[in-house]
Amino acid sequence: MTTPLLQVSDLQVFYGKVEALHSVAIQVGAGQIVTVIGPNGAGKSTMLNAIAGALPSNGAIKGKVLLDAHDLGGMAIEKRVARGMCLVPEKRELFSSMRVEDNLLLGSYRRYQAGEKNYADQLQVVFELFPRLLERRNQEAGTLSGGERQMLALGRALMAKPQLLMLDEPSLGLAPLIVKEIFHIIQRLKQTGVAILLVEQNARAALQVADYAYVLETGEIALQGPAAELAHDQRVIDTYLGLA
Ligand code: ATP
Repeated sequence: MTTPLLQVSDLQVFYGKVEALHSVAIQVGAGQIVTVIGPNGAGKSTMLNAIAGALPSNGAIKGKVLLDAHDLGGMAIEKRVARGMCLVPEKRELFSSMRVEDNLLLGSYRRYQAGEKNYADQLQVVFELFPRLLERRNQEAGTLSGGERQMLALGRALMAKPQLLMLDEPSLGLAPLIVKEIFHIIQRLKQTGVAILLVEQNARAALQVADYAYVLETGEIALQGPAAELAHDQRVIDTYLGLA
């Protein structure tokens, strides 16, 4: 069996005395889409932030996070980016008064710093994936629509050429048509070879694009399996997929 790209084991996170994650174990294979679904407050963002090295300062972490078999324990966020993981946070965190293209270029800053001559080449790849960003390359990021902002956040993460992209609720607050477009883009991203760890409340759409899925409930993995199987699990249907 090949070693998974991301291996998380016995992950625990505490905010003060409160345990937000309890012994979480997940894996993502190279080039796979893996989704983590679950209700509000289950600990999904906490899990992504812990993996990315981006926990708030009152969060304490135990357990192992391996990327490509390298232990990331205690490693700073920018070193994790250099190792090939990139988080697109729920709040997108764009630079509103900067142009779209400059926001994208910031995503390749680490590669620029590392002396990579062709750090900006990836811009063409991103513009091919997101023609809308090419049209708006000179527009200030703060003037973009919600969907365009999510595209820019995704594009900026791709500028770092990650092996693993972690997406925190990419469909949050977007209109249904735009949500469809975002999930379509996620499928296209998979074709570029990047692995994706997708946290979503839109369980139906997430299970459609994912290879494997975990259900996180009150800080613990309650259920897991191939996404197509979980989509037919009666408990998942009743709790997360509703009647529609
Ligand atoms: P949502 O879908 O609503 O974003 P989530 O599944 O991503 O929820 P988290 O945001 O990870 O859940 O929160 C998990 C638990 O940890 C919640 O009870 C939350 O109130 C708590 N929590 C999150 N961040 C902090 C923090 N910085 N300090 C204290 N408690 C926190």
